[in-house]
Amino acid sequence: MTPWSTKWKLDKLQQLNQEWYKCTKCQLCKKRHKVVFGEGNPNANLLFVGEAPGETEDKEGVPFIGKSGQILRAMWTAASQKWESIYITNLVCCRPPGNRNPTSLEKNACFARLQEQIYIVDPLLVVAVGREALQFLAGGRALAIEEKHGRLLSPGVAIGGCVFPRTGDDHKTWNLTYDMVPIYHPAFILRKDSYNPETDTFEHGGIAEQTYDDLGRILTRVKLIKEAFEKVNPSISRKRECQK
Ligand code: URA
Repeated sequence: MTPWSTKWKLDKLQQLNQEWYKCTKCQLCKKRHKVVFGEGNPNANLLFVGEAPGETEDKEGVPFIGKSGQILRAMWTAASQKWESIYITNLVCCRPPGNRNPTSLEKNACFARLQEQIYIVDPLLVVAVGREALQFLAGGRALAIEEKHGRLLSPGVAIGGCVFPRTGDDHKTWNLTYDMVPIYHPAFILRKDSYNPETDTFEHGGIAEQTYDDLGRILTRVKLIKEAFEKVNPSISRKRECQK
């Protein structure tokens, strides 16, 4: 199987899922119903990272299908994009009780899985959904989402791991960086913006509108990155292909 071919990616993601679906690396396993691994296009240009599954996600095992997820999905559709075009996952795979923020211990326990997901999908850009994702992926820096949303962090996230099949004492390691753009978390939008159910719209000029604009900026940025790769070599459109 050719590394980073669609077949290879699907195979590796499935392998990773099987390694994690019964995970007991942190205390979140005690109360979870389902491990919410992540889903989407293995060839996605954009890989979104949220914070943690909520109640609905925990029941169904699918990320971003609860109230917040519906907001993000609606915004993505409003930007004329298909949900299936992206890959989406979370800092942690299991629901923190009462939807509290995941602890550092829990985020660190899940980070090996997240790094491998990014490595396999090899997106052009990582989108951090909310402050928790922004700060953790930026290596624990206390960055303000109010200041950074919609703006490029380059490099944004540094990841590392072992080359497949990660067994034996002589395994090779990889270290990569990815650019990142943070956006507001939809739960924050729901808390802060006033929503008009009659018109099914959020207040003008609020956080929802800023996030919609940020998604537009992200799409423009991805187009530019893709064009830059293609300029180097017309057959190259991925970071990984450039590294071969
Ligand atoms: N649902 C998720 O899967 N992640 C979040 O961060 C919020 C809701």
